[in-house]
Amino acid sequence: MIGAADLGLLDGFERALINNRLHMVYQPKVALADGSLQRVEALVRWDDPVFGAVAPSRFVPLAERHGLIDPLTQWGLRTTLRQWLKWREKGRDTHIAFNISALSLQHLDFPDLVERMCRALAVPPDRLVLELTEGATQPLVKLMDTLTRFRIKGIGLALDDFGTGFSSLMQLRQLPFTEVKIDRFFVRDMTTSNDSLLIVKATIDLAHGLGMTATAEGIETEAQAMLLREIGCDVGQGYWIAQPLEPEKLGVWEKEFAKRWTKATGERKAGK
Ligand code: C2E
Ligand code: MG
Ligand code: MG
Ligand code: MG
Repeated sequence: MIGAADLGLLDGFERALINNRLHMVYQPKVALADGSLQRVEALVRWDDPVFGAVAPSRFVPLAERHGLIDPLTQWGLRTTLRQWLKWREKGRDTHIAFNISALSLQHLDFPDLVERMCRALAVPPDRLVLELTEGATQPLVKLMDTLTRFRIKGIGLALDDFGTGFSSLMQLRQLPFTEVKIDRFFVRDMTTSNDSLLIVKATIDLAHGLGMTATAEGIETEAQAMLLREIGCDVGQGYWIAQPLEPEKLGVWEKEFAKRWTKATGERKAGK
């Protein structure tokens, strides 16, 4: 069943998708060792004349329920790969992270599709990291198969929002992830709650033990960033580092952040 409000929203979303009125913003992720830009995460935005700014947490599930997730994923990925090319033309060769709905992973040919999209635009697949949230949507064997196909193509895989699902540890141990993103809930509390700090530290150790990159999301303060750096977290992301940005703002942010980083750490950023 779909309510009248959702029906209107769904209709509006479908029109925005077809008429190319969605857009992507990009949130930087930096190495906590030296503050250098590691990659950017692509996040979809929908600013509608009628509905205003609608959050992805609202319309992505709607798209999932009503058969629009594949067109959304393909539009978003193509837009992001094209943006990568624009950055590359300017001499910036950054990695990009792209969020994938668990539903898309149900098609066994999805890894081939992603690879074809990269090749069509001459973007090396190893510049791409797919972010997946945990969810027991399909048998582990099948998921294993699909994820392994991505890895063979050189595409990275991040387990997003780690610690919020039911089967985190199992998925982490059995599936070929390259990166773990510690959920912002733990990051928010780690400077005030010893339990959260313990969980963050254990997750970093676990990621390293399994040969994966540890990333913290939702870093909102300098204190959180410096603590994460101290306990060996590899990569950080969050409003203190940068808001999700329009693509042309990346250069300006980088200069501004370099100053803040130097001030916070007393160190110059690598290469600056
Ligand atoms: P996510 O992948 O975990 O993305 C992080 C979300 O946290 C983003 O919200 C981002 O704007 C927000 N965020 C970043 N730093 C901070 C911070 O310091 N504090 C706080 N409070 N929030 C922060 P957003 O853009 O609203 O996206 C929400 C979720 O929607 C994403 O969570 C992702 O699961 C999904 N999503 C976003 N874009 C896409 C997309 O293109 N495709 C798919 N399938 N899902 C998407
Ligand atoms: Mg994500
Ligand atoms: Mg996340
Ligand atoms: Mg999230």
